[in-house]
Amino acid sequence: MSDAYDVIVVGAGFGGSTSAALLAKRGLKVLLLDKNAKAGGKAMAFSKGGYTYTAWVVIAAPTIDNVFEKVLKELGMENKVELVAPGIQGAMFKQSSGKWVVGPQDTTPDPNKIFDWLEVPEAARADALTLLGELTLMTPQDIAKLDDISFGEWLSQKKIDPGLYAFLISCVCDGCFVLPVDSVAASEAIIVVQQMFLRGGGVFFKGGVGRVAETFAEAVEAFGGKTMMRSRVEKIHVEDGKVTGVSTDKETFRAPIVISNAGIQPTVLKLVGEKHFDKAYVNYVKDLVPSLAFIGSRYFLSKEIIPKVPFGVIFSKDSPWSIDKWTKAKAGHIPEEMSVWYEVPSNYDPNAAPKGKQIVMTGFLGPCDPKLKEKDIKAFLDKGDEMMFKAFPDLKAAIEAQEYYTPHDVSSLTRDSVLPGIGGECIGLGQVVGQGGARKPSVRAPIQGLFYVGCDAGGIGVGTQQATDSGMKVADIVMRYYRQRKAML
Ligand SMILES: Cc1cc2nc3c(=O)[nH]c(=O)nc-3n(C[C@H](O)[C@H](O)[C@H](O)COP(=O)(O)OP(=O)(O)OC[C@H]3O[C@@H](n4cnc5c(N)ncnc54)[C@H](O)[C@@H]3O)c2cc1C
Repeated sequence: MSDAYDVIVVGAGFGGSTSAALLAKRGLKVLLLDKNAKAGGKAMAFSKGGYTYTAWVVIAAPTIDNVFEKVLKELGMENKVELVAPGIQGAMFKQSSGKWVVGPQDTTPDPNKIFDWLEVPEAARADALTLLGELTLMTPQDIAKLDDISFGEWLSQKKIDPGLYAFLISCVCDGCFVLPVDSVAASEAIIVVQQMFLRGGGVFFKGGVGRVAETFAEAVEAFGGKTMMRSRVEKIHVEDGKVTGVSTDKETFRAPIVISNAGIQPTVLKLVGEKHFDKAYVNYVKDLVPSLAFIGSRYFLSKEIIPKVPFGVIFSKDSPWSIDKWTKAKAGHIPEEMSVWYEVPSNYDPNAAPKGKQIVMTGFLGPCDPKLKEKDIKAFLDKGDEMMFKAFPDLKAAIEAQEYYTPHDVSSLTRDSVLPGIGGECIGLGQVVGQGGARKPSVRAPIQGLFYVGCDAGGIGVGTQQATDSGMKVADIVMRYYRQRKAML
């Protein structure tokens, strides 16, 4: 046994690095382990050939009162990273003329400007305003009643113009949950609508969003803990129903508390092992539904094709996903149109690309099976290119190099696949009806001292924000657990 810690955190994604940093700051002896060379997990930042970017589209929301700044403030590390939120975006809607038209560019625009752009007829505007009012002003108590209904079912009870419907779904379900509207829990979707409409979106950090998780991992060491990268945990040890530590391929570390950011399914089914859990719990874990994957392209461009706007979504009345549409697409019938997100890192930070050049990343729904590589999802990737080339006619000719990313890449960088077809998901588990909101998986495993952190458990909001929110909640719960245990033993 090479060491003893109060807490071991497996994984330095946004969930793991947040909880590790906060617990170290609050005085616990923390060990943070990650299999990768850098922290950040699904939102890791890279630098290559003069470009700095995340492996795929990663922009965060909300802007006002975001959890990244809350954690940085508690750590006293606000000055270590620079938040950039230019307050503009470049959503493009295909109007009835067939033209792709950029909408109001501020991230919290006047509804009437949105209605003009979405071609909402005068007669439908009162209903549209009523719906936006209901969505944005709903109380937390009323939202909590909507765990067992999908956002699609909830919207089907309202009068909603097809353009406004497409806008809401493309922004919220397709982009933030990476799930069809009729599978996302309405409670979770409405919280995100409120965050984006009332508190703005499009948050980025110089050097990439992943810089925040890197800072959290650095904080662990600054507060007396240890961060070890390139350390893949192979086993979480359990004796007599209690966690005792972890082993990597090189060393074993002991601690009475282990927080896993490796995903609930890999943690239960692989790192701990089924035999330590009740059969009903194992079945529950196997039944948790993942989000779909986000797949797409990185275009390295010889010149700046997209001026000023750092991100946007391209959508039409025909682009929103539904379960039926998804089922057909998976069977090979790719829809004529689908919503495509794009990000231009150098429009956040001019140093993110060589002078005069640009990198543009795209993201759109794809299957989350980690076995799938580029050739297996070519039809989706071609459709993504086609949508981008229609919206930005000068893009194709400016491409110097192009790379695609797949569910295989996402799983390799982040979580192991332990169940068929699952592992390359964009967000995590537990966002669908019946598994979201209050029914989200608990952060406490049914093993003494074992906790989960990250998008599978405990957090709310959009991807990185959800994982960080989970990290904050887990830090509170674990701190309480640690103090009670210490006081009583
Ligand atoms: C293509 C794509 C686009 C996205 N776009 C956005 C976006 O625009 N905005 C947004 O907010 N979110 C976005 N997200 C989602 C967001 O990145 C994730 O929801 C969030 O980062 C997940 O954080 P996490 O803490 O749950 O886990 P992860 O990021 O999955 O981190 C898990 C960590 O655990 C480590 N790990 C796993 N197993 C082991 C092991 N056995 N031993 C050691 N370490 C291990 C991994 O290396 C990883 O670092 C996107 C994700 C993808 C894939």
